[in-house]
Parts: sequence; structure tokens; C-alpha cells
Amino acid sequence: MTPVNRPASVVLITIDSLRYDHLSCYGYKRQTTPFIDWLCANGTRFDDVYATSPMTPGSFKSIMTSTYPLTGGWTPFLEGWRPCLAEMLRSAGYFTVALHSNPWLSRYYGYDRGFDSFDDYLSATPRDPQPERHTMGISFLNDIRSRLPKNHRSYSVLFLAKWLLGLRQDVDGLRLVLDVARLNPRQPTFLWLHFMDAHTPYLRHSMSGRLTGSIANYFMNFHKEMIAPWIPNLIKLYDSAVKQVDRCVAMLYRELERLGLGLDNSVYIVTGDHGEEFLEHGKTSHSARLYNELLHVPLILAGPGIPRRSNSGVRRSLLDVLPTILESVGSQTSNIAGSSLFTPVTIQPTICEVALGPRALGGAAAYGQAYSVLRSDLKYIVYFDRARSLVHEELYDIAEDPAEMVNLCTSKPSVLKTFRNAVSNHIDREERRFITLKLRHSGLGEPPKTVGKG
Ligand SMILES: [Zn+2]
Repeated sequence: MTPVNRPASVVLITIDSLRYDHLSCYGYKRQTTPFIDWLCANGTRFDDVYATSPMTPGSFKSIMTSTYPLTGGWTPFLEGWRPCLAEMLRSAGYFTVALHSNPWLSRYYGYDRGFDSFDDYLSATPRDPQPERHTMGISFLNDIRSRLPKNHRSYSVLFLAKWLLGLRQDVDGLRLVLDVARLNPRQPTFLWLHFMDAHTPYLRHSMSGRLTGSIANYFMNFHKEMIAPWIPNLIKLYDSAVKQVDRCVAMLYRELERLGLGLDNSVYIVTGDHGEEFLEHGKTSHSARLYNELLHVPLILAGPGIPRRSNSGVRRSLLDVLPTILESVGSQTSNIAGSSLFTPVTIQPTICEVALGPRALGGAAAYGQAYSVLRSDLKYIVYFDRARSLVHEELYDIAEDPAEMVNLCTSKPSVLKTFRNAVSNHIDREERRFITLKLRHSGLGEPPKTVGKG
């Protein structure tokens, strides 16, 4: 697959917490995504795409920089040494615009790098230049967070972000539409839009439904033993939120077409940053675990020269978004971990990773990392503590056991060694990549031995 005509512009639409199997174009029983289905019918649907991480900060590092989230050590900040998509497109002459409302992707964490216009609804905007607003917002949230009981902190901060800082889902997607309508894009344009509507708490789009839905979402996350009977209702709320995103994307498209950014001259990528869990492995929302309900995401590519078909042959990764966009505009970069979706790749293991808090290791160790390796039909998950000592392993045959329920570690001990080596090689390769990119960023050039793509 090759882009036949160079698109004038690029539109990247990312949807938070979007499970691939809850989109009607991926066979879901409910009609959740009629507009995305239309995009899909006019482009290529990738069936086997994985996020590199089950949470926003890690996954977006890979989307925006085509590097793994734990490379160079974990931080939620977008480090300067990572190659940055918006910077590269701006250097190539693109007018770069971002609109979203996820605090993890804000200016505070460095996600404004390379954008001519960046609006996270928290920080300074061209229309409302008050840079202190964002810092105040983050300080305010952190202050409230520090006063909460530890096991309520992460969820509470998002809940408060949505309600107290005006990130309510009923207006979030619609606000993006209104702001896009005000855009005055110069050609060519790179536009990144991120939707939060499908992120917990899932809120119905009416006042009474919003209230009951949000209260139920909030408390159900704290008392998991009581959740099971509520899961079908929780899924209905989630589906309703996905449908709302789809409506907003449809309205957005109409505005973008009016602005000259339609499918005839722009490449569109629609994807999710990670999935969502509904007690498949005992939890709801999304957490620092590496099961496929959290990692398998949809990806649709449409635009000039992109064939209408589904592509279920080879597993791909969100690492591939950056090189795909670069290739579509006739550009490229080196020392990244992904490869363009336009180019067939040889089959390689799909690797995902996440930094862990102490609770993820049962309180036995303070912080650490987890990695998963998907190779053919076998999936391996390993947990390390902070000293990188192995704490726990899991092995699944996802062809026989797609729900990842039966741990085969004891019955297939010979396979474990291969996967342990794969993780070890991955960590070594990424350490070399970090040194190469860090040296390049420092202006010291390349190290003697060049790191290839991996
Ligand atoms: Zn997310």
C-alpha cells in the first residue's frame, strides 16, 4: 500500500479508552459508530493493532514519537530527546494544530511541542492567553489529590478534572467541533484532535442520566465486589459515550470538509490510545495491566490513494502512526521503533509495557515495570520490581484462550526462556536507542554504532 497522491493535510483523531470491539465497523452488535464505519468503508481498516501501553501517558509517547514509553526510564513528561511528530511536520512546512482536553496531554507535560496552535482547554490559547491558568489547574488538582485516601487518588483526580475544570463529557466533543469551526487553517495543515467522551466516568447525555451515570461510575470503581451485576449497564453507558464521539467526529468532518480538509486531499487516521476493561480481569476502567482488552485498539486510515479494504494479515502497533504520517507527506526519520503502515513489515513480536505502582505488585515491592510480548498465538506477560527482579509471569495461548484466563507458565516452561530473552533484548535495544536519540538531541551526533529499527 502506497499513498498515490500526496495529501495536502493530515487529520489525526484519537479517542480515549476506545476498545476495538465496541465499534460497529469491527463487528460490534450495537450500531455505535456509523460515521467511523463510513470512514472505514472509504479507507483501510487495520484489525490487529496494539497500543504500547494501557494508559494515556505511555501510549501517547508512542503515538507522537514512535518510541516505547519506558525507554530512558518512565516519566509522564514528553522528554525533549524523543523525536516529535508535530515538530517534524512543522519543519516540513505544515501548520500544526492540536485541540483536546486530556490533562495528561497538556502543555504542562510537554505535548504542545511543535504545535503552532495548541489548546488543551487548560493552558494558554491564542484566544485566551492566560498561561497561569494551566499551572493553577494542575496545582489545584494535585492539592486535592494529595488530600484523598491513596487508593482513591488516580480515579478521583480524573473525576474532578472532568467536573471541576469543565471537562464534562457532554460538551467535550461538541466543544472540539465548535473550535474546529473557528479554525482558519493554512495549507498544508496537521490537525490532532483527542476525544475524552469514552473515558470514565461514562456519562449519559441528559441531565438525569449524567448525574446517575457519573455517581454509579464513581462508586462502582471503589467497590469492585459489588460491580458485576452492573456491568451490562456500565457497558451501555460506555457504548452511549462511543456513539457520542462518533456523532462529534461526523460533525467535525463536515466542518473540516468546509475548511478544505476533506478526504479528497487529507489523510485521516482514527484510533484509540488504549482499550477499556469491564471486569474481564477483575477491574474496570483501565489500569497498569497488559491484557488485550486494554491493548487491542482500532485503527482506520483513509485519504488520497489509500485502498478500501480491511487489513487483518499482520499485527501493527501505534508506534506505526508517526512513520505512516511522515510517509504520507513524503518525509521520514531514523531511529524510531515503528514502521509505516504503507510498507509491509516482516512479522515481529508485538511488545507493550507499563510502569507500575506498588499496588500492582501486591504491595510486595515498590514500583517496577511490566512487559508483554505477543508472538504468533502466544502472549507472555512479565512483572519486574524496581530492581528489575522478576516478580510474576503469565503465558497465554490467545488462539485457544483469547480471554487470557489460563496461565500456561507451568505447562510450557520451555517457551518461557524464549520470551524472557525477547524482553531482555527489547530492553537492551531500547537502551541503545535512548543513547542514540539523547546524543542526537544534545547535538553530539550519532554514537559509533548506529541503532537500527526494531
Ligand atoms: Zn487514555
